[in-house]
Amino acid sequence: MTATSIRTRAPKASSAGVRRMMQAVRVRDTTSEVLLRSELHRVGLRFRKNYRPAIGLPRVDVAFPGRRLLLFVDGCFWHGCPIHFRLPKSNASWWREKIDATAERDARQGALLEGLGWSVIRVWEHELRAEACEETVARIAHCVRFTGARD
Ligand SMILES: [Zn+2]
Repeated sequence: MTATSIRTRAPKASSAGVRRMMQAVRVRDTTSEVLLRSELHRVGLRFRKNYRPAIGLPRVDVAFPGRRLLLFVDGCFWHGCPIHFRLPKSNASWWREKIDATAERDARQGALLEGLGWSVIRVWEHELRAEACEETVARIAHCVRFTGARD
């Protein structure tokens, strides 16, 4: 089952509740990416935004090309966070399939990138929330400084 075929079978606005949740999740994802970028700047890390690591691959939000290092922020809903993901009650089997397909795609893409010589860091959206953010940024900074070529 490809992601495309799942998308074409997307439930039509199943309920106002699900629609509101999806919109909230999307806004939150964007917010955490903006927050992350400003925190990385604050600790002195320089990176490229919307970087394409290889032809035919999707763009990555935050990349450190000099270190061959890519950073992905996984939304707790869309990427099926083990702590926060709750399967919506309506269209549950469609959502399960959708979330599983995303996890498979993440794994496939990660393996492909590592095969091309990139290191990949993935952080959960919840790791960027206020109480966890500083530690997460410190962990990322450590990875950046100890991965790949020296500048
Ligand atoms: Zn989470």
